[in-house]
Amino acid sequence: MEAMIRKQLIARGIKDTNVLNAIRKVKRELFVPENLQSEAYADKPLNIGYNQTISQPYIVAFMTEAASLSKNDKVLEIGTGSGYQSAILAEIVKEVFSVEIISSLVEQAKNKLSHLNYKNIQIKSGDGNQGWKEHAPYDAILVTAAPEQVPKALIDQLKKNGRLIIPVGTQNQNLIKYSFNENQELVKETLLPVRFVPMVS
Ligand code: SAH
Repeated sequence: MEAMIRKQLIARGIKDTNVLNAIRKVKRELFVPENLQSEAYADKPLNIGYNQTISQPYIVAFMTEAASLSKNDKVLEIGTGSGYQSAILAEIVKEVFSVEIISSLVEQAKNKLSHLNYKNIQIKSGDGNQGWKEHAPYDAILVTAAPEQVPKALIDQLKKNGRLIIPVGTQNQNLIKYSFNENQELVKETLLPVRFVPMVS
């Protein structure tokens, strides 16, 4: 774990100590299938069944850092998957909401996270293109599957100083950060070329 944090995260520029400490604390092997536990800290995404993956540790750290989180934040995640990113977020912020379209993954993630005693994560089964309006607005929204275009509902569910971190594209995807400037105009920054599973529309 420490070697992974040093070689894969710190060496590549991850600095936020809240992010590094969250990654130290959450046992990633608990979120991967049993037959892949020896690879839990490998520098790559891993299959979690249903044609879905748990993201590479660096990408989880990078997205979490890019969201500029603080401890009172309310965060929405789209694509719960294994629940690993939800747990990382829950270590840093006050409340985490996560939407997943595959109901078996929702059940598995709910069981895992309640077993681990996370009380600040709520997960629902549904289409993340719609966000989760009931609990909006959010300080940050992290999307872990790639749509072809940014769903408008997600921009609409951000607070006025909110941040959206989202991979966009089909074959060539980029991780994009949307935020607002002092005139309340939407600002787009392209952060990194990435490869996520497609977001189901
Ligand atoms: N954050 C996850 C990685 C998830 S992989 C983790 O830490 O393990 C992407 C997830 O997005 C998959 O579980 C997939 O089922 C889900 N997904 C795809 N399209 C979606 C949609 N429209 N709404 C909600 N979830 C979606």
